[in-house]
Formats: sequence, C-alpha cells, structure tokens
Amino acid sequence: MTDQVTTKVCSKCKADKTFDSFGKKASEKYELRTQCKICHNEESKAWHKANREKSRAASKSWRKANLEKARAASKAWSRANPEKVKASKEKWFKENREKESARAKAYVDRCNDNYVARTMGLKLSQCPQELIELKRINILITREIRNQQCQN
Ligand SMILES: [Zn+2]
Repeated sequence: MTDQVTTKVCSKCKADKTFDSFGKKASEKYELRTQCKICHNEESKAWHKANREKSRAASKSWRKANLEKARAASKAWSRANPEKVKASKEKWFKENREKESARAKAYVDRCNDNYVARTMGLKLSQCPQELIELKRINILITREIRNQQCQN
C-alpha cells in the first residue's frame, strides 16, 4: 500500500493544498512551485509593482542626472572655449544680420510708386513723379534710422 502524496504545504501561507493548487516548476520537488498559485500570483504582482516603481524612479533620476551632467558639460565647455563661443555668437549675428538686410532689401523692392503714393494718402495718378521719388527717399531714410536705432 503506497501512501501517495497528493497535497503539498505552501511555503508562504503554510496551507496544505492539493497539487493542482500549485503551478509547475521542473526544478522543484514533485515539479511544483513551493508556493501555491494564489501566493505566487500575489508575490509576482508585488514584485512587478515594486520593480515598476523602482525602474520608474531609476529612469527618472537617470534623466535628471544626465540633464544636469549635460548642462554642466556644456557650461564647462563654454568656459574652456571662450573664443569658440565668441566665434559662434559672431557667426550667428552675422547670419542674422545678412538675413535682416535681405529682408530690408525685399522691403525696399516693395516700396513701389503705388505704395509711396498711398503713404501720403494720395492716388498714384495725383502724384507727380518727383514727389514720389522724394517721398520714397524719405521713407527709406526713416526706415534706415529705425534700423540703426534697433542695432544700437
Ligand atoms: Zn499559499
């Protein structure tokens, strides 16, 4: 007469449970987990939760540390390479000045007879050409003064 074992004590809740209450695990005795399915589920849920929070916190602090590192590195680089910083600033200003003067030129090109007459509240047909020319120069001078003031 063999005493066939059909129950197993859960290592966690210590309850004596039938084999079908345990999940399979080849390396364990009877090829069953030491914890019953209920305990195992709770344990793995808790593990995932703890690790999700851990991994979230870890990636958050990594980002923070690396952002600060990146900032610090760029500051240190700027301090170590003042002439490069100066050159890149000058390059930026030059490029933007070129863009600015291109825009100003386009603006002058748009300063046609019709536009000039309208700035005086007149129709083009009412304006002598000499007046148009003078007013255009006046507009361009005013703009140039404004540009100079903006740059200073
Ligand atoms: Zn259990």
